[in-house]
Amino acid sequence: MTRVEPKIIYQTGERKDVIVAAPHHGYIQRCDYYTKEVASMLAEYLGATLFVAENMRPQVDLNKDPRLAPTPEARSLCCRYQQLALAEPIKLFIEIHGHVNGHYDVEISCGFVIDPDIAFDRELRSRLFVLQSAVNRELEREWQKNFILPRPSIGVFPLDDDVVMKATKTYLFQRIRDEQLNNRRIFGLHIEVFRDYKCGEVDTPTFFCQKALVKALAAGINKSFLEWPI
Ligand SMILES: [Zn+2]
Repeated sequence: MTRVEPKIIYQTGERKDVIVAAPHHGYIQRCDYYTKEVASMLAEYLGATLFVAENMRPQVDLNKDPRLAPTPEARSLCCRYQQLALAEPIKLFIEIHGHVNGHYDVEISCGFVIDPDIAFDRELRSRLFVLQSAVNRELEREWQKNFILPRPSIGVFPLDDDVVMKATKTYLFQRIRDEQLNNRRIFGLHIEVFRDYKCGEVDTPTFFCQKALVKALAAGINKSFLEWPI
């Protein structure tokens, strides 16, 4: 059996305040296949910093509680990843995952239920509305009739309650929430992309669908988080 070595890719972008990460990427079991391809394309469109952990998922789940990591090395990787996500300049942290049984083709979540009594949460809800409508508008415009896949559906939690991948129990997103409740302006987006919309080869029929989808996500994120100053 060939042993697959885990590796990390870290690439700084023009924007030091936005990071796109794919902590579960890989081509072996239990990994989120082709999330590096989606994350690197999105980071490029946004000018963001890119972080990818490849083939690491079977050993350690980087966005979970480091105290649950199986070895000291795994714990330290978890801590380093989470320090990167929560580092002082970061204002928008985006994680890309792959799903096989969500309700929507793309499931986006901030990782918690909005509290209408908190001004920050009301602002976030408005941003999520803008995000969803801008992504859908862009998809309508960009999705070609000859694409092999149908136009993807976009669910945003907590606006859409039937999103499956809510990330409400994901440790790192709960830490981002703690920071917000501590009056820090940092936003987190947990994005799950359905299997069929990701691929590893360029210029294939699936690649054109992936590209149009990532372009639409970038347009939505730009409108809701980057052009509207954080
Ligand atoms: Zn994942």
